[in-house]
Amino acid sequence: MPRVHLKKSDLVYVLSGKDCGKTGKVLKVFPDKNKAIVEGLNYIHKHTKPNPQKNIKGGILPKESPIHMSNLMVVCKRCNKHSRVKFSVTQDGRKVRICKNKTCNELLDA
Ligand SMILES: [Zn+2]
Repeated sequence: MPRVHLKKSDLVYVLSGKDCGKTGKVLKVFPDKNKAIVEGLNYIHKHTKPNPQKNIKGGILPKESPIHMSNLMVVCKRCNKHSRVKFSVTQDGRKVRICKNKTCNELLDA
C-alpha cells in the first residue's frame, strides 16, 4: 500500500501545471495511479458524440481530470499554508498526518 498524503475532502495547493498556485478540494483519490481529482481544477474539455438512443447530447463537456499527487500539497488548516506531511501513529494505533511546518505540527486528521 503506497503512502498517500492526500485524502478526500482535503484542501490542496497545486505546485505546477496550468492551475499552479490554485487551491481546491480533493474529490477523489486514485492511490494506485498516484493521482487525485480536485474540484474545479485541471479541467479538460471532453468531446462527446450525440447518442439519441442513450439520450446523450453531443458537445463539449468540461470535466475535471486527475492531477498527479506529486504536484499537490495539503493546505494546513491551522497555519493556512501548503505544507509537507509527516506520518505518525497515535497511541490508539491510528495513522495520522502531521503538518511539517516548523512552528505548526498540527494534526491534519482529526
Ligand atoms: Zn500547519
